[in-house]
Amino acid sequence: ALRPARSALASAAGLGLRSLSTLVLAEHAGGALAPTTLHTLSAAAKLGGPVSLLVAGDATQGAAAAAARAAGVSTVLTAEDPCLAHGLAEPTAALLAAVGTKHAFTHVLAPSSTYGRNILPRAAALLDVQAVADVQEVKDGDTFVRPIYAGNALATVRVTGGGPRMLTVRTTAFAAAPASGGNAAVQVVGAEELAAAREAAGGSQWVGEDVRKSERPELGQARVVVSGGRALKSAENFDRFMEGLADRLGAAVGASRAAVDAGYAPNDLQVGQTGKVVAPDLYIAVGISGAIQHVAGMSASKVIVAINSDGDAPIYQIADYGLVGDLFALLPELEAELDKL
Ligand code: FAD
Repeated sequence: ALRPARSALASAAGLGLRSLSTLVLAEHAGGALAPTTLHTLSAAAKLGGPVSLLVAGDATQGAAAAAARAAGVSTVLTAEDPCLAHGLAEPTAALLAAVGTKHAFTHVLAPSSTYGRNILPRAAALLDVQAVADVQEVKDGDTFVRPIYAGNALATVRVTGGGPRMLTVRTTAFAAAPASGGNAAVQVVGAEELAAAREAAGGSQWVGEDVRKSERPELGQARVVVSGGRALKSAENFDRFMEGLADRLGAAVGASRAAVDAGYAPNDLQVGQTGKVVAPDLYIAVGISGAIQHVAGMSASKVIVAINSDGDAPIYQIADYGLVGDLFALLPELEAELDKL
């Protein structure tokens, strides 16, 4: 059954007689679910109640099959239409709002990735509901913890008023749900919901994409991240030293905003408040001072290593290990040591 007994959370959520049920917007590519989706499913599981996964796109078969296998999913809803190709925000947000309303979901979640952040707040606006961004802990059906002041403080916020609770989920704060073990029913969304998406399409147009192909692990998911800062001094140095270190450690490469702004590293490598949030097992910050806006994106890393010539640099306040010295001397030494392993 889609709606099992009312969870204790539902009453805490002030949701009246509505059964708690959660809709998760799936991020997917190339017929597979993105890892961000699996992390968001874990946040959804904390709410209790059945979880449905919405797979929207112009070809959804592969991702829908993967979604049906994901643990903890009771229903997969697919929405397939040319207007939903490339995850454009206007039609996808209209679809999400329409599906949320049609099935009376009490909670609507999306990963706090570029994709989710582009779509969920728009859907919330369409429903005249305040979205809660970057949720990193679920207290109950109405109460959520999220970082503020670039992660320097945590706010516990309670959503009041009617309408669904609409959240983006900080994926690094929730473990990934198992990708297999589930056996969800797959259902196509109704014609009305698709019509809402088509009607909203046209606000933006897909022109093209320039995707960097990389053999490296994805920055947001990597177990080891090596990040370079302004001290690298040039794009050539950045490639030579950061890629050299990453190759030896099987790591993803990140960058500070100063390195990105100076053109040493591409934009999608930026870690921090206005970049990606990462929480690898090992984070190595090379020539990065440790400004709060950078730290906001990496402070949840398990082990932090800093390489910086200034022993008083703020990065050393959060680093577990430090190498104080010139990176241009230290990195070749480190590489030589790693090559011996
Ligand atoms: P610097 O602060 O210039 O630090 C360079 C460091 O390298 C210094 O500590 C220096 O001691 C060291 N160094 C110099 N030479 C050597 C050497 N030869 N060997 C070893 N060490 C050396 N920043 C981000 O990173 N991510 C963000 O998302 C982000 N968002 C922002 C949002 C806002 C609204 C604002 C205002 C700022 C944001 N910033 C962000 C910028 C942030 O404030 C810092 O300016 C930036 O992080 C600094 O980058 P950096 O550490 O590479 O450079």
